Amino acid sequence: MNSKRVVIIGAGPAGLMAADVLSAQGISVDVYEAKPSVGRKFLMAGKGGLNITHSEPSSDFIRRYDQSDWLKPMLEEFDAQKIRAWMESLGVSSFIGTSGRIFPTEMKAAPLLRRWLSDLKKRGVKVHCNHYWEGFTPEGNLRFATAEGEKIIAPDATILALGGASWPRLGSDGAWVSILSAMDVAINPLLPSNCGFKVTWSNYMHPYFGKPLKNVSAWVKSNDGEIHKNSSEAVLTTYGIEGGLIYALSRPLREEILSFGTANLYIDLLPNVSEAKLLSLLTQTGKQSINNIWRKAGLDDLKATLIRELLPKESWSNASCVAASIKKYPLKLTGMQPIEEAISTAGGVKREALTEDLMIRNVPNVFCTGEMLDWDAPTGGYLLTASFASGRFAANAILKSVLNDGIHPRHNDFETQQTHPKHVD
Ligand SMILES: Cc1cc2nc3c(=O)[nH]c(=O)nc-3n(C[C@H](O)[C@H](O)[C@H](O)COP(=O)(O)OP(=O)(O)OC[C@H]3O[C@@H](n4cnc5c(N)ncnc54)[C@H](O)[C@@H]3O)c2cc1C
Repeated sequence: MNSKRVVIIGAGPAGLMAADVLSAQGISVDVYEAKPSVGRKFLMAGKGGLNITHSEPSSDFIRRYDQSDWLKPMLEEFDAQKIRAWMESLGVSSFIGTSGRIFPTEMKAAPLLRRWLSDLKKRGVKVHCNHYWEGFTPEGNLRFATAEGEKIIAPDATILALGGASWPRLGSDGAWVSILSAMDVAINPLLPSNCGFKVTWSNYMHPYFGKPLKNVSAWVKSNDGEIHKNSSEAVLTTYGIEGGLIYALSRPLREEILSFGTANLYIDLLPNVSEAKLLSLLTQTGKQSINNIWRKAGLDDLKATLIRELLPKESWSNASCVAASIKKYPLKLTGMQPIEEAISTAGGVKREALTEDLMIRNVPNVFCTGEMLDWDAPTGGYLLTASFASGRFAANAILKSVLNDGIHPRHNDFETQQTHPKHVD
């Protein structure tokens, strides 16, 4: 066992993956976690099926990230195939869904987490729950609030894997932003990503809240004129709209809202039917009711109701007006859902604040990983993949330094662990 000791703060996918890499090489690893148990967000992700990664070609995969240049070397070291092989090594099989997304066969995170933790334990990784990191002492040691008072720890190297700020009840509260900002670490503000957006619906729409808007495509024009498109499903809600269709477009929608206060989303309600075809279907009226004509043209109940929501009654029999509205349904989004309800967080520690090895430039031997880094990606397995991959990358960087003896401990005794009365700022 190497005599160097590494502390990892945050027992989510990024932190545990860093522990995995380091412990496999005989490094002594202590993981500190604020919550009474580990991997709470990972387990929550498992409730939706645990879409752990994606099978598309790596060139397409990498393009899903706004910071693809930065993440490329990390993702190349731990891509979808390697994630599947790693799961397999833990006895967890996986499959590729029809959309190309990859899931564990059991569709849950709990069995994978259980086996992973047992493996880490066998390799000597110590997990300390109920340890809330509060920052550094003036000497650069780590300060933790615990039930027994404050603990001070002085490792050889530290990996911060503190997550973003979505779903804070699961542990990631984003409090690290003020700690690191005060140390002049450049951070982009944490903002909701993969989130729902607000729409002011009329009372007429209330019966459709919770109902899926299926087989639609949507697009938004970003500030630089680029058109961002996606095809999937959305769900109407009391506050507006959410779901895969919207999540994938959340970055340009968020940017438009931050610049102008509102965003214009356009939806093609029948992407598989051309406007010319629709026009002919909608014009074959005979004695049929509007309801019948629209249904035969392909509009289900919800889509027909959306058209009624948009157009005044006198336009309902105007085939060209209805066809145009079906193909380019405008939806004004008036805000984002709060970060607490978002699936992930955009913003975080900026690339320029870190070395290529993910070490904070002005805080030696302290590395950052996972969702606390300033990258953004849609759902589809990309969030977990980048969290795992960046955790491994930081751990490998530490291994390189350790093996070259590049880490210079500032303190002789790791187990400083002084316990003080609970610190209150
Ligand atoms: C409902 C939901 C569903 C999701 N589904 C998917 C999905 O299917 N696929 C996908 O790719 N992604 C999904 N995600 C996103 C994914 O779970 C996250 O991107 C990922 O967990 C981030 O990993 P992380 O290790 O960086 O951070 P986290 O998982 O947030 O872990 C950070 C850890 O740090 C701890 N911590 C924070 N602050 C402190 C502190 N001061 N002291 C000590 N410990 C601290 C936290 O308690 C937490 O355990 C989902 C997210 C949510 C909320």
